[in-house]
Amino acid sequence: MVERSFKYLDEIELSFVRGIGEKKFASLKKSKLKTVVDLIRYFPRTHIDRSKVKLISEIDKNDENNEVTIFGTIDKVSVFTTKTRLRIATLSISDESGSLKAKWFGPQYIESRFKEGEVVAVSGKPEVKKTGSVDFKNPAIEKFTDIEELNETGSFIPIYKKVEGMTSASIRKGLKEIIAILESTKDDFTPGLFDVLPSEIIKEHSLENRLQSVKKIHFPKNEVDYKNARRRLVLDEFIYLRSIFENLKSKYKNENKGLVYTFSNSDIDEFIDQLPFQLTQSQLKAVNEILEDFRKNYPMKRLLQGDVGSGKTVVATIASYAAIKSGYQVALMAPTEVLAEQHFASINQFMNKDQCDIYLLTSSIKDRENILDNLNNGKPALYIGTHALIQESIKFSNLGFAIIDEQQRFGVEQRKKLINETGDIPDQLVMTATPIPRTTALSIYGDLEISSINELPPGRKDITSHLIEGSKKDNETIYDICEFHLQKKSQIFVVCPFIEESELVDIQAAENVFIEYKEKFKDYNVSILHGKMSFDEKDQIMQDMKNGKVDILVSTVVIEVGIDIPNATLMIIESAERFGLNQLHQLRGRVGRSDKQSECIFHVSKKKTLNTISEDGKRRLEAIVNIKDGFKLSEIDLEIRGEGKVTGTSQSGQSDLKIADLRFDYELLLESKNIFDKIESEDIKKLLFEEAQILFPNYFKASGTT
Ligand code: ADP
Ligand code: MG
Repeated sequence: MVERSFKYLDEIELSFVRGIGEKKFASLKKSKLKTVVDLIRYFPRTHIDRSKVKLISEIDKNDENNEVTIFGTIDKVSVFTTKTRLRIATLSISDESGSLKAKWFGPQYIESRFKEGEVVAVSGKPEVKKTGSVDFKNPAIEKFTDIEELNETGSFIPIYKKVEGMTSASIRKGLKEIIAILESTKDDFTPGLFDVLPSEIIKEHSLENRLQSVKKIHFPKNEVDYKNARRRLVLDEFIYLRSIFENLKSKYKNENKGLVYTFSNSDIDEFIDQLPFQLTQSQLKAVNEILEDFRKNYPMKRLLQGDVGSGKTVVATIASYAAIKSGYQVALMAPTEVLAEQHFASINQFMNKDQCDIYLLTSSIKDRENILDNLNNGKPALYIGTHALIQESIKFSNLGFAIIDEQQRFGVEQRKKLINETGDIPDQLVMTATPIPRTTALSIYGDLEISSINELPPGRKDITSHLIEGSKKDNETIYDICEFHLQKKSQIFVVCPFIEESELVDIQAAENVFIEYKEKFKDYNVSILHGKMSFDEKDQIMQDMKNGKVDILVSTVVIEVGIDIPNATLMIIESAERFGLNQLHQLRGRVGRSDKQSECIFHVSKKKTLNTISEDGKRRLEAIVNIKDGFKLSEIDLEIRGEGKVTGTSQSGQSDLKIADLRFDYELLLESKNIFDKIESEDIKKLLFEEAQILFPNYFKASGTT
């Protein structure tokens, strides 16, 4: 007898399922549902819990705070537009016991989607009037062709995301048909669904078997059924992902030869000894991990992760030194020119010309031709620039080590490009200052090894955070705090937000703040910095800031990341409610870089208060003033940004996750690793990988680096 695996079922088109004719199949295909596996993995959006179903006459005051579902027939459809042009659509619905009204506010076109005589399920929190009449406001509503069908569905009725041209009922029918075939003992197939996981593992981890998980995710009898099914399916998704990443890693190791490094340990020790400070334990560990990778016989692909101010730059510098000592060119790519300039300045503090040449290659640099010559000739040196460094016109002939200061702005795509265009495969280090929540780290950087710097250099004081609203009086408070810092000969950053699409408008906004501070602090040196200034201008201001000549630096978000001025002890963020949480955290990290007490002011936009800004803005500000841990903040950020934006957006491939949610399923993510590591059979691993490629085509593409 033959066994049905996902791989097998993915070859069967849905048109073979009884009840799915040509027309329905065409509709399904339009929604990317082509094979039996596609439909099996079309997991329900939600279920209607039949235990919450009531007759209309049973609804009373006690139900007002609970979700209630009723089934009924539409008696009347009406639309009303108020004087303020608000559309209200009303459906009068009745069942055998009574009737009620369901109302929708705003343009939801309920009236064109529902007709008199149709059978619907309506779920929401009812409002019960004194007279006993019942209203639903903006409830969920679902059409049923046949009320009989509801009775046979079991306790929970699955509701699916709309497939154009199909009702939820016909999707349910198709799935029932598929499950019936899988369970059937009457044909030449083994009943059930071939389970990729060995039975010992299933037992040990108390997993639902595969067929049961499929059956119960769609048609659970109760919550426990649903939870067990979901647990198994989420674990499966993570196991598949791991299989993809493991395969990519070992393929990469087998197919690519690493460069030969000739630096000696004493070179490195000497270099570390002459640094202006002692490395932290985490920095040392990261350095060692990188140097060990250099010596392996395949190219490094490593992520260096660490909160703002944890000192990644010096780690990258030591590694660069090792590569240059071995005769290679090193490229360091920053997301913006200002950051490239900043790296150039800080690396010059750690490494001098006698040790290595360091070149800054930005669009406005003067001896560009000369640097490009060196680059083409293969001269070993550190070349610092933006991602323009990997443009086609610029060819390294001897690139050994590439550092990508990612700040979450470079994607997988750019990383891929870098490797492809440079003949030999260089070792790669991706640095990220923006803390990535542990849960997304795996999915985004799954093909990289990870080094973490999880401590700040010693002697740092906690930064005091203030949340200050936007009234005139609040401004005075801020000026007082400024005065306090200026008296202590400390420096101040004032950052203005990115508001408009047009950079010029933002610069104007910053100019206004600049004028305000200039007038208020006449005895001090107030400067402005923005992206439209020339390299020389920016460089001059940065130098002045470094040397303490500038007391207050007003800028647009160009200084968001990377800027390193230990004597700056006050950061003022204007219109703070407009920034993302990670950005706020990055900005705050610009101060607190010495043993002086630093402060950060989150200043709400002019005339606004916490209660007149957006709800999300308020949540962000409350989080940032109360929490200092970058990882926690970025997890909160994900939560605020909400589901839709986390799954299936910019990170190509994420949308392949049909059921696992990287924000909430962290425990299962860990368990999946545990399970994967227990799989010994090469055959099973092979099958897992084959199925993974079918189920995660986007992931596979996105991570498919050479
Ligand atoms: P980030 O990880 O945010 O890129 P940086 O590399 O800019 O951090 O380092 C932040 C600051 O801490 C810099 O001024 C750097 O010189 C300093 N620093 C780095 N490592 C140490 C250390 N071990 N001890 C003291 N200061 C350090
Ligand atoms: Mg940095």
